[in-house]
Amino acid sequence: MALEFFSTASFLRGTQCDKSLFLHVNYPELRDKDTEPKSSVKQRRVAAAKLTGHLFPEGVFAGVDITGSCEDSFELTKKHMKNSVKTIYNACFVYENLFCIVDVLNRENGYWKTYGVWNSDESDDTMILSGAHQYYVIARCGVRVDDFLTVTYKTKMDSGNKMHMDYNIQSIRERIVFLQERIEDKINHQFKILKKSLIPDILTGEHCRIPKKCDYFDYCRFSGSMNK
Ligand code: SF4
Repeated sequence: MALEFFSTASFLRGTQCDKSLFLHVNYPELRDKDTEPKSSVKQRRVAAAKLTGHLFPEGVFAGVDITGSCEDSFELTKKHMKNSVKTIYNACFVYENLFCIVDVLNRENGYWKTYGVWNSDESDDTMILSGAHQYYVIARCGVRVDDFLTVTYKTKMDSGNKMHMDYNIQSIRERIVFLQERIEDKINHQFKILKKSLIPDILTGEHCRIPKKCDYFDYCRFSGSMNK
């Protein structure tokens, strides 16, 4: 297994397909070329950043893009929490080789809450599984977070090409706590898959598009069930 830290994104990939996870970790070069237009990706990023800044102004960053490593981001997150910083963007948590980033960690009346900012196109399952993985990692770091919330937003452009946004905030804490035993089983299963030496023999099917189109689809379509 070439994976140093196992992120929430890798976990989500593995819940969709063992083979996708195995390829992602061991054969990233086989991934299909990006299918989503760059302009659409950029538009989503701008919208999420704008909404985050609107809801949580004056936060400080703790992400890997500014520290250079998961461990340093975790240390910086803990430092900000200790110093009672009100809002931390891209707060990071590391437990053994599990790793998660939360979009916003916010202190409200002395309690810490996480917020995941999602486009409304994302499936409910993805948001819940992502939150459940974050809960699993954060709880094992010995950090107390009192609530987990999602911010889902929808954008539309007006005739003058100006962006308008609706959003909805809801707590998912109860649902993700309920899932914790299953999350542990899934993580253990995924580590077993990654310890194997052969690509899992899984044919393409409906699962390749749900909840999102897999980025190894072309590879799988042309390679069939044959291992490399
Ligand atoms: S294309 Fe389908 S079978 Fe292939 S890795 Fe992706 S989800 Fe799995």
